[in-house]
Amino acid sequence: MKRYDYLIVGSGLFGCVFAYLCHKKGRKCLVIEKRPVLGGNIYCETIEGINVHKYGAHIFHTSNKQVWDFVNSMVEFNNYINSPMANYKGKLYNLPFNMNTFYALWGTKTPQEARDKIEMQCREMGIISPNNLEEQAISLVGKDIYEILIKGYTEKQWGRKAIELPTFIIKRLPVRFTFNNNYFNDVYQGIPVGGYNVLTNKLLEGIETIIDIDFFKDKEYWRNKADKVVYTGKIDEYFDYCYGKLDYRTVRFENEILNCENFQGNAVINYTDADVPYTRIIEHKHFEFGKQSKTVISREYSEEWKEGSEAYYPVNDSKNEGIYSKYKELAFSESNTYFGGRLAEYKYYDMDKVILSAINLFRKYE
Ligand code: FAD
Ligand code: UDP
Repeated sequence: MKRYDYLIVGSGLFGCVFAYLCHKKGRKCLVIEKRPVLGGNIYCETIEGINVHKYGAHIFHTSNKQVWDFVNSMVEFNNYINSPMANYKGKLYNLPFNMNTFYALWGTKTPQEARDKIEMQCREMGIISPNNLEEQAISLVGKDIYEILIKGYTEKQWGRKAIELPTFIIKRLPVRFTFNNNYFNDVYQGIPVGGYNVLTNKLLEGIETIIDIDFFKDKEYWRNKADKVVYTGKIDEYFDYCYGKLDYRTVRFENEILNCENFQGNAVINYTDADVPYTRIIEHKHFEFGKQSKTVISREYSEEWKEGSEAYYPVNDSKNEGIYSKYKELAFSESNTYFGGRLAEYKYYDMDKVILSAINLFRKYE
């Protein structure tokens, strides 16, 4: 008889939530993780008493009450509200695009003035139904904002021309005709008190975990340990890249400990100018209103994923969507194996969507 009901490959949020729910129901789970730490991309490393978001800055936000109640049953959240700034050629602008941004750019003081300005710029461009990110962006906020705050950042982030990217990426960002700098429209938002590891540890309490294990080093050995497998790694890797490699973006983080209390006065400052090689600077202590004497910052350089680097962002353009749909079909016919999370579903999921997806998978099969 097999020892475990479930082998869960990957200890990111998807794997943790699925393991937690199964464990609570009395199922025996084993979680294996190829990194030396648990938690996937939400893992935090403590440096100078500051929770450093080692695999990218994470702000929890959701409008789903079920998900919010679920995470709050594990950990308390602080009242952090993400209000990033954008630096373009040394001048600062508020994000997301709102009345403060419009005022800094055009001096418009009322919503009507701002709407008129945007409408005029859209009319001049003659876009009727947007077909790509560039057209979508211009039709939402006009040409000036597109050129100053979107084009450079987007092309650095994705390593592709904005005209080659899908429209949905830019629709993630709110456009507001109020003086409200909250980056998200969601009802609930915050950072776990004590950092994300509190959440991960709570989810994995009582569950067997092994780190530094790559499933593919001995696939059959690990498979045979359990009746069912939940796989949260890259879907193309699982099928030996038989339909070719999917594209991903990775991020190189350049971390620095600075001997000052407050470097930039905000957790997130985006650099939207194409000439600055990094996309943003994160100052981690501000996520938790830290008062430490030193500070830790991370410059983020967005790069194309290659073997050996971390796959962070799926590139959901039409070429990759075509390849993914073939892998998805293979995944359906793989017996006793479920595919979930950002890499296995090749989806640009936020944390709340990943949690919901894991809850739904659990409900479907348990
Ligand atoms: P992951 O966290 O990637 O976990 C997958 C795990 O599987 C990894 O630990 C990996 O090492 C492991 N693994 C893969 N292959 C194998 C193998 N062969 N053997 C063993 N283990 C394996 N969401 C938000 O809501 N708010 C944000 O602010 C936000 N910011 C983000 C910033 C960045 C830079 C990135 C990349 C993502 C961000 N997200 C954000 C999205 C968020 O990270 C995801 O929604 C969520 O963490 C994904 O969880 P997951 O379990 O699907 O994947
Ligand atoms: N974006 C931009 N300028 C900015 C911030 C974001 O043009 O200052 C665009 C960019 O294309 C990005 C998308 O908006 O990929 C979504 O931004 P979000 O902050 O949601 O990206 P994330 O890093 O969370 O994926």
